[in-house]
Amino acid sequence: MTEKFTARMADEQVRRDTRTLGDFVGIYCAANHAERERAPIESDAASLGVYGRTTPVVCAECAEHLRYAEKRRAYCPKDPKPFCAHCDTHCYKPEERVWQRQMMRYSGPRSVFHGHAIDGIKHALEGRSYRKRAGASGSRKES
Ligand code: SF4
Ligand SMILES: [Zn+2]
Repeated sequence: MTEKFTARMADEQVRRDTRTLGDFVGIYCAANHAERERAPIESDAASLGVYGRTTPVVCAECAEHLRYAEKRRAYCPKDPKPFCAHCDTHCYKPEERVWQRQMMRYSGPRSVFHGHAIDGIKHALEGRSYRKRAGASGSRKES
C-alpha cells in the first residue's frame, strides 16, 4: 500500500465513497453469486478500517473488482466526483468499466433498500442528466 493511498483514504469523502462502493458490490455479489464462497474483503481499504463493521462480503471475483475500484476512487482527480458511470474521463480499464457498469445497473436501484436512499436517488438523477448531455452531444453511451 502506498503512502498516497493511505493519505487519500484519510479523507472523509473518499472513505464514504469507498464504503458506498463496497456496499454496492456487496449487494451485487449477494444476489448474483450466492452460490460462491464469499467472505469479508481483504484489501488495502479494509486494512485501513475504511469499511468499519460493514466490510463487504464478496466472492473472489468481486473482491478483485472492488480492490481495483478502491484504488481508482483513492486516486480520482474529480472534485466533486460524479458516479464513475457518469464520468466524462473514465479512468477504468475497459473490462473493469464493463464490469462496473453492470454491477451499478443492478445495485444502483436496489441500494435504496439497503440504507442508500440518497445515493440511489442521486445515481438515478445523475444518470438522467448524463443521458441528456450524452444525447445532446450525440455520441456518448452510458457506462
Ligand atoms: S471514472 Fe471518473 S469519477 Fe470514477 S474514479 Fe475515474 S476519474 Fe474518478
Ligand atoms: Zn461476487
